[in-house]
Amino acid sequence: MMGLSPLSSCAEDKKSSTTNTSITKPPIVTNVKLFGVPITSNALSLLKEVEAAYDKKIKEEMADMDLSYRAESEVTKDGTPVIRLNKNRSKNETDIVHELWHLKLNAEGSPEVGWHPLTGASPIINQAFTKNMNELVYDPILHAKFYPEMRKWGYIPDFSEKENIAIFIQNIPSGEKENEINGSVAYFQACLEIDDPSLIAQFEEWYKQHNLHHPLAVGKSMVEIFKTSKSDTPEQQIDIYIKCLNLLLENTAQFKVGRYGTKMLGTFSRREVVIVIMPPNKKKS
Ligand SMILES: [Zn+2]
Repeated sequence: MMGLSPLSSCAEDKKSSTTNTSITKPPIVTNVKLFGVPITSNALSLLKEVEAAYDKKIKEEMADMDLSYRAESEVTKDGTPVIRLNKNRSKNETDIVHELWHLKLNAEGSPEVGWHPLTGASPIINQAFTKNMNELVYDPILHAKFYPEMRKWGYIPDFSEKENIAIFIQNIPSGEKENEINGSVAYFQACLEIDDPSLIAQFEEWYKQHNLHHPLAVGKSMVEIFKTSKSDTPEQQIDIYIKCLNLLLENTAQFKVGRYGTKMLGTFSRREVVIVIMPPNKKKS
């Protein structure tokens, strides 16, 4: 693409991080398979760690999902860790290792996020506030923590995010509120997940060409929250999530951490957090 703007602060940051993500151990393929895919020694260590944490074998499932989904994972009521691959996409080790990382973080105390609804508002309105927010805003925060580790093991964890950007920038933005939010989220995700400064610079140029200065500014502020906050513990990651939600949806609602708790799933103690939804701050006139 021609006429790229100078690298954004986000892209520069990614550039410097690239130098730290050299492959530490060359991947050696083992004779262990998950979903019929032979896994490398690094993936096998991770698999053993996850199965030990849950004291159960990973359950492998294929599911009919929308093409935009690669895979998902969950812990069932009896404490079984499940990885589900999209049967409409080709199987690959990267997606399996991605889900193993999510299960590892869950075992280490990354909480399941639930919502305490805004009093007086209908369930539909409450749902509209929080629809997909875990996936759109919380997951990228987690990805930013484990993608660098995956790169050290020789994976390209952001291969599909890169494809998504190529598709996203083909759309003509409509300027509706929902798309403003999507625009901010897309920039935030790209900066946290993608390790390619020139692609981020192209993406940023696309916002400018389409006069999407506001969603870009909000997206940048969200990235800044992540970069200037500690993000090592699950609580710190949830705090970043809440700050980002408060910025992204500031005219719609406010959010705060309600309470942390645990739920027993078989012998596995799953961490949970409730996020409280409140009315928006009155705008200053
Ligand atoms: Zn993920």
